[in-house]
Amino acid sequence: MKGLLVLTALFVAVFAAQNTHIGKHFNGLICVWETGPLCWFVDLTCHSSPMSQLDVWMETTDLPTSVDIRVPFTSLQTVKAFLETEDIEYFIMIKDLQVMLDEEKEQMLSSARATAPRTSDDYDYSNYHTIADIYAFQDMLVAENPNLVSKIVIGQSYQGRPLNVLKFSTGGTNKPGIWLDTGIHSREWVTQASGTWFAKKIVTDYGRDAALTAILDKMDIFLEIVTNPDGYYYTHTSNRMWRKTRKPNPGSSCIGTDPNRNWDAGFGGPGASDSPCSETYRGPKAHSESEVKSIVDFVKSHGNLQAFVSIHSYSQMLLYPYGYTRTPCKDESELHNLARKAITDLASLYGTSYRYGSIINTIYQASGGTIDWTYNQGIKYSYTFELRDTGRYGFILPANQILPTAKETWLALMAIMEHTKDNTN
Ligand SMILES: [Zn+2]
Repeated sequence: MKGLLVLTALFVAVFAAQNTHIGKHFNGLICVWETGPLCWFVDLTCHSSPMSQLDVWMETTDLPTSVDIRVPFTSLQTVKAFLETEDIEYFIMIKDLQVMLDEEKEQMLSSARATAPRTSDDYDYSNYHTIADIYAFQDMLVAENPNLVSKIVIGQSYQGRPLNVLKFSTGGTNKPGIWLDTGIHSREWVTQASGTWFAKKIVTDYGRDAALTAILDKMDIFLEIVTNPDGYYYTHTSNRMWRKTRKPNPGSSCIGTDPNRNWDAGFGGPGASDSPCSETYRGPKAHSESEVKSIVDFVKSHGNLQAFVSIHSYSQMLLYPYGYTRTPCKDESELHNLARKAITDLASLYGTSYRYGSIINTIYQASGGTIDWTYNQGIKYSYTFELRDTGRYGFILPANQILPTAKETWLALMAIMEHTKDNTN
């Protein structure tokens, strides 16, 4: 209990100060991972820099290269001086993050004060929810649709929370499968909220929407909404900006591993860190995190997944393998064309603009990533989404954007799932 209090106090001390979120643009300058004077921008592992503790929110390697970083108020003058000395263009995107966090919390509390939903129809899809709410929602959905939805527990998180996967199936054995996951990075709240809406959308559309019905008649859909439950719990109780798992690292005071650098695909290569204090820490070995290993075991035991879609935020991108190597994957042209179709469908609803391409060419080099591993397992339609927005709110996307985000993303998911169905025997 004492330890918890100390941690909480530390968190308040950091966040009670103003935080500034700076977006920066290099024009025509490419950052090199872990080398050069700008390394602290692109990788927190570069401990030679006094800035090594800054929180990188998003970065891209295509031109102009840009990085969004959250800067504690106490470091602000140092960072600004550095940027000006280096002649690096920057602008402030969020002046005071705490104001947004306060608003988000107040909105969640006002939703939570309403009566707890008794059916999935009453669930407030337009708001953010705790893990307890989402787990209760999953049980409601199963109870209401016993012939269509079941809950599979594929493992336990480090702290012992169940890793729940909703299985949508119209029966039959060993049908080909489609996997969807949200929230593997816990602070990306719009993804878990969208995943909850997707679950309801599937049961609503089955038997009514011809395309979704045809998909489910041929294939099962698996959906893991809270893929990093310990992290998600922690974002609600202690640190809204938490990204990694919550497993301690022996010999370090820093907690957690990046579950999107922990897969056995280029594991340990560039684009992941070997420092436990980094936000992109790869872990002591591939599949060291039970949240990852449980999916690995599920994928292998299922043996017939045809699509695997892992959903993140933010930056509005649809990405396919690879992240760890520049060698194009052998299905690149098909994956590229399907990505174009998916983002075109997505944009048809509200005009939201997405970029698309391979991870390494579109966002950055990243080793040990989820979909590189699933693709190498033979799951051809392996994709990663980065949902809204492009940095105006970043991870603190206002709740009034949940439904628009979920609805437009669904159109892209349907494009991928339909194509998968049409190309599966
Ligand atoms: Zn992410």
